[in-house]
Parts: sequence; structure tokens; C-alpha cells
Amino acid sequence: MVEEKAISLNKIMALSQDIAFTLDISGNFIFVYENCEELLGYKADELIHRNISKFTANNKNEIVELLKEIQNSKSVKNYSFLFIHKNENRLPLKTKIQFDKNTEIIYCLARKEEFEDPDNINKSQILQSPISLINNTNNLIWSIDKDYKLLAFNKSMKDRFKSNLYYDLSVGVNMLEIPHLTEEYLKIWKDLYDRCFKGEEINVEIAPNGNPEIEEAWILANLTPIYEDKNIIGLVCHSTDITHKKQIENEQFKRYELIQNIIDHIPLGVAVNIISTGQQVMMNKKFSETYGWEEKDLKDVNAFFEKVYPDPTYRHEMIAKVMGDIATGDVNKMQWNEIRVTTKTGDTKYIDAKNIPLSELDLMISTVQDVTEKVKTKFEIQKALADKKNILESISDAFYALDKDYNFTYLNKSAQKLLNRNENELLGKNLFKEFPELSETVFKGYLEKVKKSSKLAQFEFYFPPFKIWFDECIYPSKEGFSIYFKDITERKIIQEELENAYEKENEILESISDAFLAVDNDYNFIYLNKKAEKLLNLQKTNAIGRNMWDIFDYTKDSIAAKEYNLAIKNNETRSFDFYNDVLKVWFNIRAYPSKNGLSIYFTDITHEKEHQKKLEALNLKLKKYTKKLEESNQELEQFAYIASHDLQEPLRMVSSFMEQLQNKYEGQLDDKAQTYINFAVDGAKRMRQIIIDLLEYSRAGNQEENLEQLDFNEELSEVLSLLHTSLTEKTVDLNVDELPSVLFSKTAIRQVFHNLIGNAIKYTLKDQSIKIDISWKEDKRFFIFRIQDNGIGIDEKYHDKIFQIFQRLHSKSSYSGTGLGLAICKKILKKYGGDIWVESKVGEGSSFFFSIPKKIKL
Ligand code: ADP
Repeated sequence: MVEEKAISLNKIMALSQDIAFTLDISGNFIFVYENCEELLGYKADELIHRNISKFTANNKNEIVELLKEIQNSKSVKNYSFLFIHKNENRLPLKTKIQFDKNTEIIYCLARKEEFEDPDNINKSQILQSPISLINNTNNLIWSIDKDYKLLAFNKSMKDRFKSNLYYDLSVGVNMLEIPHLTEEYLKIWKDLYDRCFKGEEINVEIAPNGNPEIEEAWILANLTPIYEDKNIIGLVCHSTDITHKKQIENEQFKRYELIQNIIDHIPLGVAVNIISTGQQVMMNKKFSETYGWEEKDLKDVNAFFEKVYPDPTYRHEMIAKVMGDIATGDVNKMQWNEIRVTTKTGDTKYIDAKNIPLSELDLMISTVQDVTEKVKTKFEIQKALADKKNILESISDAFYALDKDYNFTYLNKSAQKLLNRNENELLGKNLFKEFPELSETVFKGYLEKVKKSSKLAQFEFYFPPFKIWFDECIYPSKEGFSIYFKDITERKIIQEELENAYEKENEILESISDAFLAVDNDYNFIYLNKKAEKLLNLQKTNAIGRNMWDIFDYTKDSIAAKEYNLAIKNNETRSFDFYNDVLKVWFNIRAYPSKNGLSIYFTDITHEKEHQKKLEALNLKLKKYTKKLEESNQELEQFAYIASHDLQEPLRMVSSFMEQLQNKYEGQLDDKAQTYINFAVDGAKRMRQIIIDLLEYSRAGNQEENLEQLDFNEELSEVLSLLHTSLTEKTVDLNVDELPSVLFSKTAIRQVFHNLIGNAIKYTLKDQSIKIDISWKEDKRFFIFRIQDNGIGIDEKYHDKIFQIFQRLHSKSSYSGTGLGLAICKKILKKYGGDIWVESKVGEGSSFFFSIPKKIKL
């Protein structure tokens, strides 16, 4: 419905000269009837939702006020919009406006305002007259005579005086006597008038402070003399308001000042020259500062070049370069970096300069920047780089660096020599393009491996085009790769020859039961036999040519490595045991140096080592036991000594009281009592003997005894004299060899002789003639003595037993004794490192042997 209504309204409106539109309370178009386009130039769509003030030349506040006013008023209001047509012409619109409170819509009906102009023809006539020209200008025009009296003036002049000074100008008024004008103002004008009367044509700008009451603006005063017969009879004056122009100029001046200010303070040297003349227009402080000269020194282009480039050759070079670049007219070429210049004090500086030509203005802007620090740093870096390069050059190995795409970034001299290419040919070039055959070798694979793993790789490879064996080491680097390499062809040839030589000896080497390997002087494997392959868990084919320390890198600092080095260094055979803790094998190794390196024989001695270890452990255990035993023996001996010593006293008491009993009650006691007493006395005696012997046994070997060189003949005769009684009791045939002189203890040998000879006499059959032979012999380490008797002899089963304490083969009634004699002998001899033993058969006599070491160790 609404739309239908709108269409029918549109039709009506199309017949009307009026246009209609509605606005919201803010003045935005809501609805515009179609016929508006014809009048306004805008289509309805272009206006809707946009504010009417945007389309009018009316004061915006006025429209705001109008909108407010309409909302408060019920009646229709007339307003004249000065609508701006789409073609930008002004279009006065006489508009009736009404506000509808309910809908809050402002309804407008507008019509183009027609000026009524009945005197159209008269107007053109007026416009054609000069008076009209004079009176219709805003400029003030007047003339004066020689007495400064006003001759004529235009309408604007009259209006201005009236409105500003409330003064009614009239002909004849003295222009220098008009009231309210300041003296200063009048003075300015008097000067101007006077100068003009003298014939000068004046054209001058006067500032507004001349007289604020009459001229608030800048004016351009133009004074022209009026001549009559070459005499000046008056002046025509003309004043134009140039405030607007001045404002623009002022703004321009301010802008210029701002620019000047910026230029003065930017950290960039700026100078402006006129291209055609070379004359300088402007230069900021920074410009002269940067060049290290005073402003006046650089004013002229020629002076500039002479000062900044004092060396004539360099100067000419620079002039040619700069002028040449400028002549191309190409802005991109007018840029010179890191130019060396000389300051007034003679110092060297570096600058970046750039020129910007403004050809239309015939101006050249030169900018300059101090880059001395930057250049110096650059030089330092270059020097550091050169130093680094020197270091790299001094590496005796060939060395080159590649970027991540395998392009050369550096090569030292050795590398250039080995690759037979110079630096210029290779830098920046791709390795595989320059040496395509490389991609067919293992090299490429290693390089890719390093790239992937970021771990270094070392390997040897043969490069067919060069017929060279290379030893290569590729290190990953931040930029790509660092590659060290050397020519090892010679070594390889020797190695190969050696290998061949060894191969020839193969059978012999393989037949060696030991493992065998050979290395050259750099420890590269030349040969391994099968046994070595097995023991080292290493295949010959994988080992030959490779370095021993690459394969067994964990043994690099081991004893084995030290021993090998010693073998090579001192040219001596080294034999040692070595535990390989990775293979978990003990090796016995013998390294034989040769002209070409080392021959190494080795056996697995793990088993022996284990055995040895067990033995050592056992020994240790044994030592512990022995020590314990010794300790307990000592304790026992001490006990025996104390016991026997302390028993002597009560025993003596028993014997003496028994004796007293016997003496005092002799005859009073019956035979039985007498026999008992005899038993007791006898027992006490025996006990005493046992104690004495025990004491002796415990003492034997415990005392510190002085060893001395003893003539055993003498010692023996001493003992025989002690045994005199026993010897004379029986018939004894004693044969003694001439005895040697021996380093021994006197008491010890006497005791031994005494016991053995005593026994030889004792253990005989009754009434038997006794034959005793004493002889000796010696071997490397011992003197061995023999005491041979023809007595009762000893059953073989007791040959050991008789040397133990208290061991007797007979009852005391048949042979007296305590069973300690031989034990004492054994203890003494053992102490000095000797021994005692017997050879005997029952009824065939006995031979007691004892030995004394020639070198006694206590
Ligand atoms: P003792 O003579 O005090 O009994 P020994 O230690 O001197 O103690 O001797 C131990 C035993 O060895 C003797 O009891 C004796 O049986 C035997 N014996 C020692 N010497 C001889 C010898 N020359 N001929 C035969 N038997 C001997």
C-alpha cells in the first residue's frame, strides 16, 4: 500500500515544479520524490540517508538551529537552502518545512528561487561605464594634489573610512589630517606620497600594524604621479587587500621555516645547489660537519672538490665519477657509498652521498651521511676475516668450505693446488657441477650423511679423474660444511705393496698359531691373519687400509697405544698384557717394530689371567691362615714357657720335701713307705726334666741369636766333651769328617749336635759296641750333615712322628727321655731355614740328616 501510494505521489509530483523530500530530525534524507533529479542533479538514492547539510552551502549551525526550531513549532516554516547542484552550481531552494510529531519526520517542499530582474538591460549599461568599474571594485582608489588634499575617491574608499573610522570622506580633505589615524600610519603614507611626488612609482606592501583601525589587513599600495607638462600635479593611489595572499605567503614561509628547521636538525647533511650555475642555495650544519669543513669552505662546487679531495689524482677520479653519474640523469646512479674524504684537519672520513635532482626547479639536493664508524668496523671485520683466512691458509691440510647447497664459499691454497683449480674458478660454484665424477664416489653419500646427522665423517676414497686417493674429513658447520682433505695416494701405494707382500707370506702368517696383525707407521691396518680376525671380531676386508684408532677408538689412550708408540719410537720390542674392556678379553701382546710399522702378535690369555687371579686369591687366603697359625703358635709357646717356668718352683719344693722326708725318717718308715717316697722323688725328677726340656723347646728359636762364622769342628768337640761321661760309659767308635766353617748360631748348633749324638749313644742295644759316623756334604744352597749310628733303628712309620713333641717310641724304663729332643732340633733348624729328617730301618741303625742354608734369612 505504501509503495502504491508513493508511486501515485511520484506521478503527481512529476507534474509539479516543486520537489518534495522528507528528513529525519537530524536532517538526513528519508525519502526523496523522483522529480528531484531534474532540479538537483542527484538521484534519490544518492541522497537518502545522507545529511542535507552536506549538500548545501548554508552555515551548518544555522541548519542545526533550523531543525531544532522546526521540531518545536507547529506551523510551516520557510527557509532558503542554498543547494549545491551535482554540477557544483549553487541553487537557491525556497523551501516550506513542517514537522510531524507522531512520525518525527520533517516534510519539505522546495522550489527553485527565481530572482526578479526587471532592469536587466539597464544593468549592462551601468556596467559598461568606467565609474561603475571604479565603484564596483573592493580596491580603494583615490587621488590627491600636492597638498595631500583629496581630489577624488571611489565608493569602496568612502565605505571603508565610514565603516572603520566613522569618517565621511569628502573632496578637499587633507589625507594626512584625518582624525583617529595614528602618527605612525600617517608617517608611512606621508613618506610614500612624498616619494611619489618626487617622481617615484611606488608599489609597496604595508603590514597591518600600520593602523589597525583603518587597515586590519595587509595592503599593496600603488602610488602613481599625475603629470601635467612634466610637472607632478597630483597622485593616483590604489590600495589592494592582499591579506589572503600574505596569509598564503606566511603559511609558505612557516612551512619553509619548518622544512629549514627539519633540515637543520636531521642527522643528514643536506645542501641545495642551482644546477645551471653551481651556486649554493642552502646548506645545513650537518652537511659541513660531515665533511669536516666550515660552511664557507664548501660554498662553491669547485672549492668543494678541492677541499674534500686534496689529492689531485683522486680528486679528478672523483669529479669524473660524480659528474659522470650526474650526467646520466639516472637518480639511482647518483649515489656514492663509502667515499673517502679529507677533513680540514687532514683526517680521513668515509661518507655515503646521494643527490636528488629537481630538474624542473634547476635544483640539486645533495645529502651526505657519515659512515666512518661503519667503514672502520667493516675494515676491522675484513681484517679479522683476512686473519681467519690466513689461519685457514696456514692449515697444511687442504681445506674448503661449502654452503648448504654444496657451493664453494672458501678454498685455501692447498685445496686449490690439490683440486688443480683456482679460487676464482670455484667460489660460488657447485661442487658436483664442477666435479661431476664426485657424485659417483662414496663422497656424496658421506656428505649427505653429515648433512642429515650433523656429525663429522672421516673416510678415504679414490677419485679416478685425478688418480688420487683422498683422506677426507667432513665437519658440519653453521653455513654448511668444512672439508679437510689430503692426498694419501703415496701411503696407499706403500700400503698396497705391503699388503701384497704380506699376502705372499699369507700361508706362513696364517699358520702362526698366535693372532697376528701388521700396521703401518700411521697405524693403518696392512694385514690381519684369521686368528686376529676372530679374536678382534673384525673382518680383514673391513680393516685393511683403515686406521686402527678409528676402529678401536676406545683404546686410543690405553696402555696398548702407549706401548705401540714406544715400540715405534725406540725401535724396540714391547711385550705386555692388556685388557680390552669392550671385547672383554685379556691379551698378551708382543709388538715388533719394523721399517714400515709394527708387527703385532697377540694371544688371548683371559683364561690364564682368571686362573692367576684365583691363585692370587688363594695365596692371599693362605697367607692369612699362616699368619693366624703363627700367632696361635706364638701364643702356645708363650704359654708353654710360662707354664714350665712357673712349675719349676713347686716341683723343686716337692723334691726337696721328699728328700727331707727320706733323710729325717730314714729307718723309721717301712719299706713300702720308702718305695713310695722313692717313686715320688723319681717322678719329681722326671717331671723336672720334662719341664726343663719344655722350657728349652719353647725357648728354642725364640731368642735373638747372633749369627757368627763357626768352625763346626770346634763346636762338635765342645759338645763331645759335655757328653764325655756317656761316651766313656760305653765303647764308642766315633768317626768325624773334617767339618766346614758355617755361619750359624753357636748355642743352636751345640744343642742340635748334643741331642743327635746323645740319641745315637742312647738308642743302642745293651752291650753293643757303638759306632757313630759324622759326615757332611754341600749343594748350592745347603750344608747337609749326617749323624749315622748302628743303634736300634726306627720303623719307617715313625719317621715323621719322632720330630713332634712328646712323641717317644719307648717306655721310660727302657730308654729315658722326654720326647722333646728331636722336636727342639727341628724347631731350631726350621727357624734358620734348614730342616731335619731321618733314614732308618729297625735294627739297622739310623742316619739323622740336618741341613743349614748357606744364606740364612731370618
Ligand atoms: P727322647 O730321646 O727324650 O725320648 P727324642 O725326641 O730325642 O726324645 O727322641 C724321640 C724318639 O725317637 C725316641 O724316644 C726314640 O724312640 C727315637 N730315637 C731318637 N733317636 C734315635 C736313634 N738314634 N735310634 C733309634 N731311635 C731313636
